[in-house]
Amino acid sequence: MATNPAEVLGLPKPAWAADEVGMLYDMAVRFMSEEIFPRYDEFEKNEIFDRESWLKAGAAGLLCASMPEKYGGSGGTFAHESAIIEAIGHVGVDGFGIGLHNSIVAPYILHYGSEEQKQMWLPKLATGELIGAIAMTEPGAGSDLQGVKTRAEKDGNHYKISGSKTFITNGQLANLIIVVTKTDPEKGAKGTSLIVVETDEVEGFQRGRNLDKIGLKANDTSELFFNDVRVPTSNLLGHEEGKGFVQLMQQLPQERLQIGTGAIAMIERALALTIDYVKERKAFGKAIIDFQNTQFKLAELKTEATIGRVFYNDCVARHIAGGLDPVTASMAKYWLSDLQGKVVDECLQLHGGYGYMNEYPIARMYRDARVQRIYGGTNEIMKLLIGRSL
Ligand SMILES: Cc1cc2nc3c(=O)[nH]c(=O)nc-3n(C[C@H](O)[C@H](O)[C@H](O)COP(=O)(O)OP(=O)(O)OC[C@H]3O[C@@H](n4cnc5c(N)ncnc54)[C@H](O)[C@@H]3O)c2cc1C
Repeated sequence: MATNPAEVLGLPKPAWAADEVGMLYDMAVRFMSEEIFPRYDEFEKNEIFDRESWLKAGAAGLLCASMPEKYGGSGGTFAHESAIIEAIGHVGVDGFGIGLHNSIVAPYILHYGSEEQKQMWLPKLATGELIGAIAMTEPGAGSDLQGVKTRAEKDGNHYKISGSKTFITNGQLANLIIVVTKTDPEKGAKGTSLIVVETDEVEGFQRGRNLDKIGLKANDTSELFFNDVRVPTSNLLGHEEGKGFVQLMQQLPQERLQIGTGAIAMIERALALTIDYVKERKAFGKAIIDFQNTQFKLAELKTEATIGRVFYNDCVARHIAGGLDPVTASMAKYWLSDLQGKVVDECLQLHGGYGYMNEYPIARMYRDARVQRIYGGTNEIMKLLIGRSL
């Protein structure tokens, strides 16, 4: 797919998709089509990517596109990250965890890291030498992040970290993990701190199971265990302890918007593939698209996809200008991921039995789409946040 399927919707380019963002999108589509797509079945079967793909993505300039050039990045904005995530979605290699690495993990280090931390970690994240993860969720704390039990106890000029995390994206490959810990369990949210663990440098860190999921098979979503893991106190993000919750709240809008990016990209791909399919497939002597039901369904889906793209583009424009509020980001996450589930389900239906066969891309999209309503804060939590603002 050389051109952006958003063009299927007949939309003009948004202002933020300047020429250089468009060029990055084309390059990312080429990279994903040539380097990742041919091996994607293998990654799905192994339930993990290989490091080589990350290093290749780094060499191609697809890691840390929005980090400053002085730290090894490309000096772009979220528009550049969006172009890369859209390329992943449009080519259909959704399990490649570079979106989280680029627009969630790296920004924490850029925004809260000391100069020394930025110089130490960002260039290696940009090459793929370090693969990033963020470990918030625990077996006993998902939606209710204040219930995190992982403890970081000060011991001289070190922290001793103990606890377990689960559902962590890139969990088997990651060697730089931002861990949500309690530095002062008495203080609840105000006792929460983010601490970076470089897994190659520590003892007591163990990776648990690479979890058996229904979708996003190519991603190594895992359990992680910290048994008195000692890291220098200088691995704390931010100048003082207890700022973790505020840092998380400040970064969550971008994480939520990024889930919207994956959603709109998959919606557009599902629609483009389905329109092609119903033109080819015949029943009762005519093409499936000639049935009025098909036309009405596709008319509805295309309308909603267009509304979704316009809303998404507006969110990106606002975010780049520094004005995307957490409530609108929650709306984008919830509404676009709900729409994704609906569009993919209807598109699968229009494929008939073939839609249920794994050899058709719509089947994988159906499995991959489901989690979008769950992670990054469930859609119920998004509605809670929106409701509270009214
Ligand atoms: C594939 C995958 C990748 C993930 N990647 C990461 C990652 O990289 N890092 C990370 O830290 N976490 C990650 N997660 C975890 C994810 O963010 C959590 O699963 C999610 O936040 C929900 O938490 P939970 O699973 O504990 O569900 P629970 O909190 O137990 O929720 C169960 C149900 O109750 C509902 N519910 C809970 N509270 C309320 C409420 N107050 N009002 C109404 N309804 C409520 C929820 O909406 C949900 O429907 C990932 C999860 C998956 C599946």
